[in-house]
Amino acid sequence: LDDPAGNSFIESIGTSDTRLSKTLYERTREQLQEMGYNVPQANDTHTAATAAPPPPKHGADLPDHLRAANWDFSKSIEDNIDKRREEEESGNIGRDEALFFEVDCHHCGTKGRQDMCAIDIPGFRECLVMAFNCPHCGVRNNEVKAAGAIGDKARRWTLRVTDPEDLNRDVLKSDSAAVRIPEIDFEMQQGTQGSAFTTVEGLIGKIADHLQESNPFTGDSSAQNELSAFTQTIDDLRKLCSDPSCLPFTLVLDDAADHSFIGRRHPERPQEDDPGLTSEVREQSMGC
Ligand SMILES: [Zn+2]
Repeated sequence: LDDPAGNSFIESIGTSDTRLSKTLYERTREQLQEMGYNVPQANDTHTAATAAPPPPKHGADLPDHLRAANWDFSKSIEDNIDKRREEEESGNIGRDEALFFEVDCHHCGTKGRQDMCAIDIPGFRECLVMAFNCPHCGVRNNEVKAAGAIGDKARRWTLRVTDPEDLNRDVLKSDSAAVRIPEIDFEMQQGTQGSAFTTVEGLIGKIADHLQESNPFTGDSSAQNELSAFTQTIDDLRKLCSDPSCLPFTLVLDDAADHSFIGRRHPERPQEDDPGLTSEVREQSMGC
């Protein structure tokens, strides 16, 4: 048994089992990479790193039939998925081009349908869309995840929201992204909320809804101060999108895996025409 992760085990018989031996060794760079660690390409003469590093990957090795070529970004995910199903039923998409599974509905327990396809988000990268729909109780939900390898670097997106138009920008927030809005002293750590493909306004609304549902301070009179600070935060978040006097504010998405994205107002124009939006990469800290 040769296990670079060190997670394997053979039981010894008695206290001095001469037929069983165990040797610990340093993992090679290749083994670390196979285990999913991001190993820096240092000029390390101690290892035989003669092979050139693989070219950076921005998409995934997805089969062509998964790619949704005529995705309409001005429409919701639900509308796009419905259109794909109609095309499939009318024979415009071959059965082998559609990918879906039967999945138990978490709400009513009967069989629902999970569709999966890949879309190429302009200015970003290829993403996987997973859309669930229960024909019995009508529950729908969807999830969008950036496809491909975890980025080598972390990326921080900073959007200066100066105009109600900015609230309509596309946003993909992955579950590895932290969200900050310094003007209202708001910060949400990575992993707090799942991924969402929405708009700036939609993201802020989802965060406010999530906070409201998860309110940890209900029913405890000793936590009145915490409760009022908490409800104040929810109010502040909602006001950002409904009260123009809250503009401008800053939305920061800090993603350790570089799987998040804020869209340009006009993707066809050069980046310099969009001074309100910046993104910077930085080295990942270990462990992210
Ligand atoms: Zn159901």
